[in-house]
Amino acid sequence: MINSDIQGIGMTSQRTRDRLVERLREKGIKNQRVLEVIRTTPRHIFVDEAMAHRAYEDTALPIGHGQTISQPYMVARMTEVLLAAGVPDVVLEVGTGSGYQSAILSRLVAKVYTVERISALLQKAREAHRKMGLLNVYSKHSDGSWGWEPKAPYLAIMVTAAPQSVPPSLLEQLAVGGRMVIPVGSIGGEQKLKLFTRTTEGIEEETLELARFVPLLDGAIR
Ligand code: SAH
Repeated sequence: MINSDIQGIGMTSQRTRDRLVERLREKGIKNQRVLEVIRTTPRHIFVDEAMAHRAYEDTALPIGHGQTISQPYMVARMTEVLLAAGVPDVVLEVGTGSGYQSAILSRLVAKVYTVERISALLQKAREAHRKMGLLNVYSKHSDGSWGWEPKAPYLAIMVTAAPQSVPPSLLEQLAVGGRMVIPVGSIGGEQKLKLFTRTTEGIEEETLELARFVPLLDGAIR
């Protein structure tokens, strides 16, 4: 990819990106590092060219296979919540999708492990990470409801698709002192963004706000 592709022009220019960050600030995002990383990460390379002119709107956009790249506000909010108790070395993300959220995380922590069930999406996400020169995102094609066992336990887990109820394996792979942000609820119905923390006493659960995500589904497919 030539440099101007990443830098962007017109609807993908730095000015357009600055306006997005202004909106996120207005919506209550406070973590300066998160805002700065969003300001300096091209979102348009994570969507199809036909969608690139909308990449810096604060909305989810289609990425094919019935999936979406998350809304920038949600990306910022979930990242901010995950990092609120201190910056973890490693994050496990379930639902790579476009790869945008993992790219944001990769610029804030040492290593990102990310799992995606749709192989075609994972291939594209890897290509986008390669274009950006990101070397600390490790990805796997599988059903992320089972987590990523050999690398567990995690101090930080982010799930970017909504299950009806929290997969037990993910809670098991949460370290003491660890945090997991996850939308929970039915599709079409109400979903709530939740924060789970593991203490020496057990699991604590907090509801943060309403959310709208694609469903967390079983099994890996091509
Ligand atoms: N974080 C992504 C959001 C993509 S939408 C981004 O920044 O673009 C959520 C993604 O979760 C979809 O790509 C969907 O295929 C994936 N997904 C759904 N269920 C899954 C599962 N059980 N394991 C892994 N990925 C899953």
